[in-house]
Amino acid sequence: MLKAIALAALIQVPAPSQELAPGTRYDASIPTLEQVAGHGLREEITPPDQVIAYLEALAASAPERTELMRTGETWEGRPTVMLVIGSPERMARLQALKADLRRLADPSTLEGDAAERLVAELPVVTAFVHGVHGNEISSSGAAMAEAYHLLAARGDATVDLILRESLVLIDPMQNPDGRARFVFQNTMGRARWEDAAAASAEHDEPWPGGRVNHYLFDLNRDWFAQTQPETRGRVAALLEFMPHVVVDLHEMGGNSTYFFPPNAIPGNTWTTDEQRELTDVFGAANAAKFDERGFAYFNRDTYDAFYPGYGVSWPMAQGAIGATYEQASARGLVLLRSDGDQLTYGDGVLHHFTAAIQTAATAATHRERILRTYLDFRTSAVEMGRSGPREYVLTSEHDPGMARRLADALVRSGIRVDKALEAVEVGDRTLPAEGTYIVPMDQPTHRLIRNLLDPHTPMDADFVARQIERRANRLPDQIYDVTAWSMPLLWDVELIVSEGPTGAATVSLNDTRQMSDVASLRDAQVGYLMPWGTAAAAAVAEALREGIRVRSAGGEFTLGDREYAVGTAIIRNSDNGPDLAQRLARIATRHGAEVVPIDDSYVREGMSLGSGRVRHLTEPRVLLVYDRPGQTYSVGWARYVLEQRYGQRTTAVRASSLGRVDLSDFDVIVFPSGNYGDVVGDGMQEDLSGWMRSGGTMITMSESTRWAASAGLLATNAERRGGRAEGDDPPTSESADQPIDFLQAIAPSDEAPEQTPGAIVRGTLDTGHWLASGTDGEIGVLVEGTRIFAPITLDRGTNVGRYAGVDDLVMGGIVWEDAKAQLANKPFLFHQPLGRGQLIAFAEHPNYRAYAEATQLLFINAVLLGPGR
Ligand SMILES: [Zn+2]
Repeated sequence: MLKAIALAALIQVPAPSQELAPGTRYDASIPTLEQVAGHGLREEITPPDQVIAYLEALAASAPERTELMRTGETWEGRPTVMLVIGSPERMARLQALKADLRRLADPSTLEGDAAERLVAELPVVTAFVHGVHGNEISSSGAAMAEAYHLLAARGDATVDLILRESLVLIDPMQNPDGRARFVFQNTMGRARWEDAAAASAEHDEPWPGGRVNHYLFDLNRDWFAQTQPETRGRVAALLEFMPHVVVDLHEMGGNSTYFFPPNAIPGNTWTTDEQRELTDVFGAANAAKFDERGFAYFNRDTYDAFYPGYGVSWPMAQGAIGATYEQASARGLVLLRSDGDQLTYGDGVLHHFTAAIQTAATAATHRERILRTYLDFRTSAVEMGRSGPREYVLTSEHDPGMARRLADALVRSGIRVDKALEAVEVGDRTLPAEGTYIVPMDQPTHRLIRNLLDPHTPMDADFVARQIERRANRLPDQIYDVTAWSMPLLWDVELIVSEGPTGAATVSLNDTRQMSDVASLRDAQVGYLMPWGTAAAAAVAEALREGIRVRSAGGEFTLGDREYAVGTAIIRNSDNGPDLAQRLARIATRHGAEVVPIDDSYVREGMSLGSGRVRHLTEPRVLLVYDRPGQTYSVGWARYVLEQRYGQRTTAVRASSLGRVDLSDFDVIVFPSGNYGDVVGDGMQEDLSGWMRSGGTMITMSESTRWAASAGLLATNAERRGGRAEGDDPPTSESADQPIDFLQAIAPSDEAPEQTPGAIVRGTLDTGHWLASGTDGEIGVLVEGTRIFAPITLDRGTNVGRYAGVDDLVMGGIVWEDAKAQLANKPFLFHQPLGRGQLIAFAEHPNYRAYAEATQLLFINAVLLGPGR
């Protein structure tokens, strides 16, 4: 692997002004990238396997100063790693050091002068995480340069300072699958000579670009939900160290320069003044270094840190100094910018490398202040939890699996969560032990808990006022991402704030490992019932895949002393083999689903189990429309929710190949968000209608619902502002014998509804309808954009889900006044029967970032329970 290892003598490298670190002498016993991969750090876009090979070579050449941790594996089987670099003395006792770092992060465990001693002794931990978006290529290039420089530089005062005062963590690639995709497509597109034209094939990625991972997720939105393995591995590794400074290195548009904090406003509500002041210290130091080297940069614009799922903001909510660095991307080896300059991949490596090393030096210089700020943050968090409500209680009586998954997600962020072992009394409520979890508020993650669980995270009032003004002038708002993400609202888990400790017996979820042994299931005379919900849906998907025959209740019924809702799964002994109990127990345990053995089926009230309203379910044959014109994220979220969240086999068919498909081979066709007008012509539209009439279930969402409405497939209209239907003529101006209302006079006559910047809106559901199976009739719906649809009329279908009235519409985040009035009472879930089949349409993204568990259940209901209705 190493082409050559020169004598372990110090060599003097010539230092032109654009050298990575001018004047640095490097130890020749530390391999260069050239020696390992055959190209220099700034010469070529290193493919993922060579990035890993190089870090392995570096670690092998300096074992006393490094540890290369394997943090996980991507969907496509590539390793994710983190390189730890420290002084030999520290690395020799790394385990003890990590334990001390975690003690500093949990101040309530520190007695006497222990905290002071830790602040005096511990290194500052500075983590650099790279390439979360795989086509942001120079980031991983810089990662290798950082590691080489820190290990190979000799007699360098800055590097000596960094190693003396800190521990450096380098995650070289947060998204190896995305980088592999970029490198492959860039290589394929290359001309004989490097082509700088922005429109050339080598710069222009075909769908899907390298930004996203295998399931097309933006991993820089996944830090708290952690639905993706790349995120889980990285966060678990970071939690071992509890880093004090975390820098996430990105790329942005090629015509820009370089961004580092201070960030744009609004910052996150839970960021402290001390964190902001320290961020300025880093910003000023970077600025001085960039000025010295003549690199252009900007701050305080575009990039905010309001949403807590970024690489900048999740660490900040833990008490670290978080930062996003953005380098203009060459998106290839060289790019001709619109100002006529040429920007190279190597420039990007140089700038990122310079910022990272400067940051490590700043952290080392201010080691004690940073550690003290971190300790104060974690200490004051505990105090906040002692002066306010003492516990957040999470419960989901109607679907215990929901609360369990939410609790697990919190644990993955290092939050302490306790599982109830007995009924929990809170206020005048008694909550069952099953599905009830307690989050003590006096813990160092208090601010992260508030961030993730509170329904609403307030945004800076002046900033909001400015947005209202901008909207009135028809300027887009300056909100970078969503304004609401509250996990209980999106998971449909009830959050009960307990002023005092509930005192219930609990066990820590952080120490107990997932699901214990397979619960045994007794033999039952008739069979088994599974009350519907997220866990039952996942269990039934697997049961169908395994050939177990399952039926589904089309109505409510009372059996014994228990009431069962629509959607309850019925698994009869007479339909299945003699080993049913064992097979079902294994599956139900894996998904945490409740199974009720029944010895008689004589219902006291409601639907009989042998009624015609009981449907036989079969494993649905699902086609997911893939590729353009589908929106990348929507396609990926749907595929992930089908295949990974619910274990539903899915055939992804490129939209351009739909015409080759015999529709009768499928029971369900999912159209992710997108306008399919250009690929589904009149002929195919006829085919789809015919297929639905003979039993097919078509599912649309967000923009594909808009398309279905405009194409006449769905009997509704997307509304324009003020409620007119899309396509109708705008009103003519009225007679001018009244003095004009100026604001009305300048309002455009035809425009899209007011844009909603990602808010959670109250949705109510028709619980008698099978599409709403497993819900309690009210959920939070993530609403984003300008989609508002007219209700479907009774003769054409059912508005199974609609938004609440204007007064209790908004559960979290920002909905501007005009949109509020227009969204109220509008449908978000349509069921339109057509012959023996149907069209099911969502107004929004039911699978948003795969963390909208409540609407994801409605989506999987459509897939599993729809066919054969
Ligand atoms: Zn990025």
